[in-house]
Amino acid sequence: MQGRIHSFQSLGTVDGPGVRCVVFMQGCPLRCICCHNPDTWDPNGGEAVEVQPLVRKILRFRGYFGQRGGVTVSGGEPLLQAPFVAELFRRLKENGIHTALDTSGCFWNESAAAVLTYTDLVLLDHKYPTEADYRRFVGGSLAQTERFLTELERRQIPVWLRRVIIPQKTDREASVRQLNDVARRFSCVKKVELLPFRNLCEEKYTALGLDFPLKGTDSPSHETMQSLTALIDPIYLS
Ligand code: SF4
Repeated sequence: MQGRIHSFQSLGTVDGPGVRCVVFMQGCPLRCICCHNPDTWDPNGGEAVEVQPLVRKILRFRGYFGQRGGVTVSGGEPLLQAPFVAELFRRLKENGIHTALDTSGCFWNESAAAVLTYTDLVLLDHKYPTEADYRRFVGGSLAQTERFLTELERRQIPVWLRRVIIPQKTDREASVRQLNDVARRFSCVKKVELLPFRNLCEEKYTALGLDFPLKGTDSPSHETMQSLTALIDPIYLS
């Protein structure tokens, strides 16, 4: 089976537990204003790869995974190529490798369900607190993400909730308290991660002939990140 990938990171440490290979899938239907990777949006871009050679490549790195590491499939939006991801995860599980899915949860269908059959952990972006924010700043629906989270709860697949903290957009205390409340409502949520917005992608937008909606926006300060993190229940921070 063939899929299209944007890139491959052999030894990542920020997308899930331990040391991990990270496969960035090509294609995304959303248009987050803070997106760092607009070059992943085009579903026809990137590089075509077969599952089996990709598995062989990953297995070369398994010695680095240790007890906690494994493979994270990110994007783009990996569920756009759910049959490929399901097959990749199935073969990784055959080899005893931990699998994590980094997703916006913007789809729910049979193919997405097949991916979850072989998924050990979901890194779920919960990008904004309201439906109106999702429409305006993501081009998607909060209801879809919560639908996906409900499925994860039903299957009791561990979840790390993630939100990018963007000045003037998601850095209000009420926004972070709402995220903490979501974590409390779903027992599958094991961790909450607040990620500071980094303005590192203006050149990519320029190269693609696109306007970067957050041009000129600064990163949140260390103090802001600390005070917002203090609003999260400690059980979700370790
Ligand atoms: S879901 Fe991810 S890849 Fe897609 S637009 Fe948003 S940040 Fe970018």
